[in-house]
Formats: sequence, C-alpha cells, structure tokens
Amino acid sequence: MTEIVSEARFAATEPKERVLLVSQCLRPSQTCPGKFSREGLNCPQDCTQECVIGRLRGIALELGYNGVCIAAGGAMAVRFVKERRPKGIVAIACPKELEEGVAAVAEMSRGNSDPPAIVTVPLLRDGCVDTEVDVDQALRAIHLLSIAPEPK
Ligand code: SF4
Repeated sequence: MTEIVSEARFAATEPKERVLLVSQCLRPSQTCPGKFSREGLNCPQDCTQECVIGRLRGIALELGYNGVCIAAGGAMAVRFVKERRPKGIVAIACPKELEEGVAAVAEMSRGNSDPPAIVTVPLLRDGCVDTEVDVDQALRAIHLLSIAPEPK
C-alpha cells in the first residue's frame, strides 16, 4: 500500500500541487489581527507582527503553493484538503491533530492508488495557545524537492 506520510513522495510533487496546513495556535494570541473565515485565519496584508505563521505562509506562497490554511482545528484543515485536492501536504500541528489528520486523509483517499503525500511537523510545545514550532524543520519541509541524480 502507498505510504501517505512520505517525504520522498512529497518531494516529487511540484509546489503548485501542494498546500500548507498550519495550526492557528502558533499565532501571537494577544496581538494577532487576523480574522477567521471558512478557510481558516485570514492574515491582513499589512500585518506587521513578528509571527512564525506569517513567515511560513509567505514563503509557501512565494514558492507557488496552491494554498495555506491556518486552521482552527482538524475538521477545517481536512475540508481545505478536500476542496484543494493537493498532491503534497505540509502539516504543522500538535501530535494528536497530526495523527487524526493523517487518518482523515487516508480515509478520504481510500481506493486512490496515488493519495496525497504528507510531511508532518509536530509542534515543539503545544497547549492550544501561543505554541511553538522548530522553524528550521518547518522550512525544510516546505522546501523539500526531489533532487535529480547527477549525470554520469
Ligand atoms: S501573520 Fe497572520 S497569524 Fe501572524 S499575527 Fe499576523 S494576522 Fe496573525
């Protein structure tokens, strides 16, 4: 059976076929000016906060990702995946949300011989508010590309 969580399969996808899912709990809870919509938290263009979500979101969109969902919970992230139908997913969340999200994508892809490939980045510190992530690990996941073999 095809592995759903797979860096190798993810690396073979193009940025335009990917989405980034980030848990909203990484935002600065006291000062974040974002507003929630059906597709997650919307960051205003002029947000000036020092914020890991803003940084990761900006880089993913610059690379050409098909979307970023700053999700308030797993159901919202799974709906985003259903609607965008990506081939590659970077998911940043607490271990419990990641486990449930991977299971939901696996269920959604049942019978599909080429399910989306997921790379997971667990939070360093969870707790639902003002959480933390290893930014280098998240950036490495977002940038993963397949390296063509050197010509002999
Ligand atoms: S970048 Fe987005 S998530 Fe971060 S503080 Fe600004 S509006 Fe909130």
